Amino acid sequence: MVLDIATLRIGFSVMAVILVLLFYFSTYRSTRSPYSGWWCVALLLFLTGSFLFLLDGTEHQAWANPLGNALLVAGAVSVWFAARSLQAANLPRWAFAAGPLVTAAAGLLDNPATNVWAGGAVFLGAMGLGFGLVSRELWRLSPEYSRARTPMAAVAAAVSVYYLLRLAFFLLLGPDHPVFTAYFGSAITTLIMMVMVVVVSYSMAGLSSEQQTRALQEVANADGLTGLLNRAAFMAMARRELERQRPGQLRGALVLADLDHFKAINDNHGHAAGDVALQVFAGACRDSIRSTDLVGRYGGEEFILLLPGVGAPNATRIVDAINQRLSAAGDAVPVPTVSYGIALYDAGQDTVEELVRRADAALYEAKSQGRNRIVVGRSE
Ligand code: GH3
Ligand code: MG
Ligand code: MG
Repeated sequence: MVLDIATLRIGFSVMAVILVLLFYFSTYRSTRSPYSGWWCVALLLFLTGSFLFLLDGTEHQAWANPLGNALLVAGAVSVWFAARSLQAANLPRWAFAAGPLVTAAAGLLDNPATNVWAGGAVFLGAMGLGFGLVSRELWRLSPEYSRARTPMAAVAAAVSVYYLLRLAFFLLLGPDHPVFTAYFGSAITTLIMMVMVVVVSYSMAGLSSEQQTRALQEVANADGLTGLLNRAAFMAMARRELERQRPGQLRGALVLADLDHFKAINDNHGHAAGDVALQVFAGACRDSIRSTDLVGRYGGEEFILLLPGVGAPNATRIVDAINQRLSAAGDAVPVPTVSYGIALYDAGQDTVEELVRRADAALYEAKSQGRNRIVVGRSE
C-alpha cells in the first residue's frame, strides 16, 4: 500500500488545527497552565512547518524548505519547554533559538533551491535531540506527578529514537534509497506525529490542571515577604517529615531563630529597611540549608528550621553558615544579630509542637544570656 503523503499532511493539519483550538479554548484559557500554552505554540509551529514543505518543487523552495525545517525544530523545542514547565523551571531564551537557527543555517548552506533534503542531517539530529530532552524531563518529574506523564514520556522517547534512526539511515543510505523512503520517509513520519499528538491530547487536561493546582498550592504555602514557607505550611511539612522517618533512625534538630533588637532597625532605618533585613536573613537561610531541610517564617521576625539527620555539631555548623552570610550582607544593608534556640530530637516520640516548645525555651535562654548566640536545649 502506498500512502499518499499529500492526503496524510492534510489530515495531520486538520487534526492539529482542531487540537490547537481545543487546547487553547478548553485548557489554556481556563488553567493558564504554561504546559498547555507551550503545546499550542508547538502545534502551530508543526502546522506551519509542514505547510511550508508543500512549496517544495516551486520557486519558493529555496527559503520555504530551510524555514520549514527550522519551524519543526522550534516545535520540538516548544514541547521541551512545555515539559520543562512542569518542574516550574524556566529555560534561557537562547535555548529556544539555538536549535532552529542552526537548522535553518544548515539548510540554507546546502543548495535548498534544488535539494529538498538540504540540511537534512542537522534537522533530523535536532528533532531527535529535542524529543529526547522532552522524554528526559518527563521521566525526571517527581513521582507525585500523576501517571498521565508516563505515556507522554514513552511516546517522546519513541519519537526521539525514530528520528535518530532516520538520521542513521539518512547518513548510511541517503534519502532516495527505497528502504529510507519506505520506513523513514515523510508518510510514516506524519503517521507517527499523529500518534504523538493523540497521546498529548490524552495527557493534556490532566497535566495542565495538575500544574495549575501546584502553582496555587505554592502561593498558598509561601510567606509573601520572604518566599519561605509560611507557618502553617512549615508545620504541616515538618509533621510529615517526622512521620516519614523510621523510629530507629529518627534524629535531627529543630531551630527557632529570632532577630535581635529588630524593632530598633525599623525605628532607626524605617520599616522598608526592616523588610529588607528579613529578606536578607531568609536568603541566608535558604543558601545555607541542605535540600532535605525545611525553613519557614514562623511569624514577624522569627524563623524556624527543621534539619533532619543532624546532631548538635552539624546543626550549629549550619547556623554558623547562616550567620556568616548574614554578616557578609551587612556591608550593604543594616542587618541585626540573631539568637537561636535548638531542640534536638532522637527519642522518636516528639511531635513538632513539643519540639517548638523546647526550641522556644532554648531561644529564651539565648536572649536572656545577652542575645547573638546559639543555645542547644537539653533533651528531655
Ligand atoms: P528581641 O531582641 O527581644 O527579639 O527584640 P526585638 O525588637 O527583635 O523584638 P520585638 O518583639 O520587640 O519586636 C519585633 C519587631 O518586629 C516588631 C515588629 O514591628 C517587627 N516586625 C514584625 N514583622 C515585620 C515585618 O514584616 N516587617 C518589618 N519591617 N518589621 C516587622
Ligand atoms: Mg520575636
Ligand atoms: Mg526579635
